[in-house]
Amino acid sequence: MGQQKEKLVLIGNGMAGIRTIEEVLDHSPDTFEITIFGSEPHASYNRLQLSSVLQGGQSFAGIELNNADWYDENRIDLRTGETVEQIDSEAKTITTDSQLEFSYDKLIIATGSNPIFIPLPGADKEGVMAFRTINDCKKMMETAGRYKKAAVIGGGLLGLEAARGLLNLGMEVDVVHLAGRLMERQLDPTAAGLLKEELEAQGMNFFLEKDTSELFGNERVEGLRFQDGTQISADLVVMAVGVKPNIELAQCSGIHTNKGIIVDDHLRTNIPDIYAVGECAEHRDVVYALVKPIYKQAKVLGKEISGIGGSVYRGTVLSMQLKVSGVDVFSAGEFIPGEGQKSLTVFDELNDHYKKFVFHGDQLAGAILFGDTRDGMHALGQIVEDKDLSEEEKQALIHAVHPSYDRIAEMPQTELVCNCNAVSKGMIIETVQASGATSVEGIKKETNASGSCGSCKSAVAEMLDYIHSDRFDEAIEVASLCSCTDYTEEQIVEEIQVRELQTVQEVVSTLDWPIQEGCYICRDALPYYLGMIHPHLHLMEDKNAELQNDGTYTITPPLYGGFVSPEQLARVSALIKQFHLPDVTITSDQRLQLMGVKEGQLDTVWEQLGMPERSIKGFSVQPVETPSCACDPTETRALAFHLDKQLEFLQFPATVKIETKACAHDPKTTDLLIGRTTLGWEIHIGSNDLLYVAEETEDAFELVLALLQYYRQAASYRETLPRWVTKVGIIHVREIVLDNDFRNRLIKQLKTDASINENKTAIVKLDI
Ligand SMILES: Cc1cc2nc3c(=O)[nH]c(=O)nc-3n(C[C@H](O)[C@H](O)[C@H](O)COP(=O)(O)OP(=O)(O)OC[C@H]3O[C@@H](n4cnc5c(N)ncnc54)[C@H](O)[C@@H]3O)c2cc1C
Repeated sequence: MGQQKEKLVLIGNGMAGIRTIEEVLDHSPDTFEITIFGSEPHASYNRLQLSSVLQGGQSFAGIELNNADWYDENRIDLRTGETVEQIDSEAKTITTDSQLEFSYDKLIIATGSNPIFIPLPGADKEGVMAFRTINDCKKMMETAGRYKKAAVIGGGLLGLEAARGLLNLGMEVDVVHLAGRLMERQLDPTAAGLLKEELEAQGMNFFLEKDTSELFGNERVEGLRFQDGTQISADLVVMAVGVKPNIELAQCSGIHTNKGIIVDDHLRTNIPDIYAVGECAEHRDVVYALVKPIYKQAKVLGKEISGIGGSVYRGTVLSMQLKVSGVDVFSAGEFIPGEGQKSLTVFDELNDHYKKFVFHGDQLAGAILFGDTRDGMHALGQIVEDKDLSEEEKQALIHAVHPSYDRIAEMPQTELVCNCNAVSKGMIIETVQASGATSVEGIKKETNASGSCGSCKSAVAEMLDYIHSDRFDEAIEVASLCSCTDYTEEQIVEEIQVRELQTVQEVVSTLDWPIQEGCYICRDALPYYLGMIHPHLHLMEDKNAELQNDGTYTITPPLYGGFVSPEQLARVSALIKQFHLPDVTITSDQRLQLMGVKEGQLDTVWEQLGMPERSIKGFSVQPVETPSCACDPTETRALAFHLDKQLEFLQFPATVKIETKACAHDPKTTDLLIGRTTLGWEIHIGSNDLLYVAEETEDAFELVLALLQYYRQAASYRETLPRWVTKVGIIHVREIVLDNDFRNRLIKQLKTDASINENKTAIVKLDI
């Protein structure tokens, strides 16, 4: 008899839920009996392409994601037109609106968002609607057949796409927008002005800075009245003013929610075996309403549910591309230079091509491209990579002025061509070489590239032309983690998960490292990945010391707040004599380093040192530097001491150097500076950013802990604290750490992580 399968239930037959199921089927095709509930009466479809359907570029059939055969082939029980109304997490059952009860072993909530409907007087009249579903799209098409005048409230991405569709359907279209320019969250005034001109030329009318006060008419809407007393007529009003996560079901089922359903880095909710993904989920305080982050979440959740685990979602840098035919506009990151930022702009007025790149120092912080968006993915890559650009690289960003530049040939293979599905140039080359694909459809079939928002179709076609041209002379190159291995970081993480590797030794021997000791990159990176994947597991080869190239170890014991007692110094001196240690150095951050310790001497050295048995290594917080000037250091030293103690067991994406100062004298550029001034404790990040001035020491302490925990959760491996703050913006970080709820949650998590790690250290001591 076959083994009983686990019951996997998905609520929400939308893009996030279905992509998660596809990932689960990829990893464990036979593990689950899958049931899917969807309120809409259709099998899954590509919601992004509704704009294209409305504009006449696609049919409804053409946007279907998975047809009935797919559900059958994968033995999925699809229940369309059935809304789940209740989750009983104790009994592990759900109940639908037709009072059917189903049990589950694992439950995914992917209920998406609801469009925001402004409760204006008259909003309940016939002819007032949102733009979210196939049914909405059909309704607009029907209305266009019978009526002439449409008004779209909202001059953002969705509103403009709806307006373009209604124009194509032969309606006169007015776009009403509250702000003074279109897409003000993505475009600066120049780009927004160009966009408006272009859309006006296409036939749209704009009413900017207009606050609608009511929708008038009898049963059917006849027009909009504004706060300034003016009015326009309309037979159809489409509200496109944003979306709101659909969380009511979760809320009344005891699942923690905030703006969305709160999930951790594995997409788990607070209730065991219940997960959330997509627009309904809130990850690290962010709710995403774009498909790229949602697909990334689905990938992680697919593995989590399949029991591969370890894979984590850490957030996504967002970008957008408008899907209006005849208009090419791209925007990502910061687009108005803030303090310490400068921009590089090129405006070709003859062709209405505009490019703007915003730099923070030498790093690209944001970009707007209008007219020619082919370099959008390249710019996005540079923003995400967060690296210093040379003058040449900066100039290359605006290379349109050099017609001889072969953009596609120069593109690195890691650069994305399809942003939604994260398909890079290298992946397309590989696909063409492996499958012999010769068309955009062929590439789409193999990689999904151009299969979501569709705005990269021409880029994929250009890439294909290039691969099949004489100019093409590239071998597939994938950057490995370091020179010790051919495996990329992603492959190593995958191997650790799939083969369930648990120690650095297992990784290097299973993956055939030529030199077992590794190099300075993998020696740090492997424990970090292992720690991420198996947080409760102790890496047995951890010797509380750092292996050097000559095979000896360096010990760097913690000196809380920079203090060392005469007794400790005397013991160090005795050890130097006893073991003939060649060097003891004082590091630039006030640490004592004992070098040249042999492996067999480590236990005795630690024992005789009589200091906390923990050596500073890997990416951790470096010892907190204390003041060296003549001002009263008492309070500052105490703060440094407590920070050192609280942070000593934590790993960070990159080393964090913290300095405390008793006064405003001689400020240094470190990652984090906490300085006493007459106003209180100034907390500075890097050389520029002032986070806050806290009056009380306790407040400064808590803010620093919250900041560091947020950094641990949100930054990429090897991303320094100042770089990360520059990327996400000091204002955003300030908002998070000053919010009481967020701050308390972050501090709680930091303390939990620290105590897990402290216990692991204690276990090792017992094992020895
Ligand atoms: C017109 C349009 C254009 C867009 N263009 C872009 C774009 O260019 N780029 C981009 O990145 N994003 C775009 N988006 C956004 C993108 O479509 C969404 O981010 C994505 O669809 C979200 O997927 P989801 O699965 O989280 O939610 P959804 O796709 O909304 O799916 C959720 C599903 O769950 C169902 N459901 C809800 N509650 C229940 C319940 N209790 N029981 C059963 N079923 C339930 C809903 O009916 C729905 O079918 C666009 C959206 C629209 C509407």
